[in-house]
Amino acid sequence: MKKHNFYAGPSILSEYTIKNTIEGIVNFADTGLSVLEISHRSKQFQAVMDEADALVKEILNVPEGFSVLWLGGGASLQFCMIPFNLLVKKAAYLDTGTWAHKAIKEAKLFGEVDVVASSEDANYSYIPKGYSVPADADYFHYTSNNTIYGTEILTDPDVPCPLVADMSSDIFSREIDFSKYIAVYAGAQKNLAPAGVTLVIVRDDALGKVQRAIPTMLDYRTHASKGSMFNTPPVLPIFAALQTLRYYKEQGGVKEFDRRATAKAQLLYDAIDNSRLFEAVVKDKADRSRMNVVFVLRPEYKELEKDFVDFCTERGIVGIKGHRSVGGFRASLYNALPIESVQVLVEAMRDFEYKH
Ligand SMILES: *Cc1c(COP(=O)(O)O)cnc(C)c1O
Repeated sequence: MKKHNFYAGPSILSEYTIKNTIEGIVNFADTGLSVLEISHRSKQFQAVMDEADALVKEILNVPEGFSVLWLGGGASLQFCMIPFNLLVKKAAYLDTGTWAHKAIKEAKLFGEVDVVASSEDANYSYIPKGYSVPADADYFHYTSNNTIYGTEILTDPDVPCPLVADMSSDIFSREIDFSKYIAVYAGAQKNLAPAGVTLVIVRDDALGKVQRAIPTMLDYRTHASKGSMFNTPPVLPIFAALQTLRYYKEQGGVKEFDRRATAKAQLLYDAIDNSRLFEAVVKDKADRSRMNVVFVLRPEYKELEKDFVDFCTERGIVGIKGHRSVGGFRASLYNALPIESVQVLVEAMRDFEYKH
């Protein structure tokens, strides 16, 4: 049976990515060797790195003066690397959930942290508004898509200091105005590649301003000056990321995935809003994530939760059980998910409703 993969991360990759990654594992660039067993310093792997860097810059329209880095340690390591490298005196943070919270905790190790607003009071079910960011902050950090709670910030905020964003779960789903940013980072396992690599795009002239000593491996300049080859990079996830990037370009780039994200999310939110059984957790439509749709059964139908998951499983729908901190359901609609899978889920919801 065809599976409809709604997992939140690691999550669906395009068939193109899977197929070409398998090919590289068997016979990489006609070397007769696997990409798993060849030097990262070989000219064939160097070509992978060069093309991956170039495609990130092309697809995301990254201007001159930024470095594209491929690092280990997950997005979680960036929670500390960002302030280590960029927090001179004070940084501003927006608290929109678990990931933001963890980023704030690390930043406090390095300087003054101004948490400008939080939506913790309502279990992070909305995006705070009307906050002000101090102009003397070194940067304003926000999480563009809150993978667990299903909220998203779809436009680059206007604040009086440079931006830093954790875009782990929505990168490549919209255009980014890099003139506002000094850094963007994303763990690969949501919208790019298998787990194991993190994409970091950092502005070169924002580096070297902090006075503190930075351990070599945690210093962005180490990796920027060596093309992410200071040490052995995570070769397989990078190779897979290159396949996804080729696929993104071939499909029409970020503009096209932006369009698809809106279409897929609208289809599902409409079904939820028109349902007698289900309701969306995020009430304000402007705050709703296009990548992670979080919904629950209305209180009078709560006991049907397991039944619905089973009902979905029978139809090949996997990965919709909600995160433990929210409950209910979460359908992740990342770039690689076809709209047909969303149609199957919407049909399952209607049939389930009819049954009850
Ligand atoms: C998944 C996720 C993370 C954590 O990524 P790791 O690679 O597991 O460290 C951080 N931020 C966001 C927004 C995420 O979705």
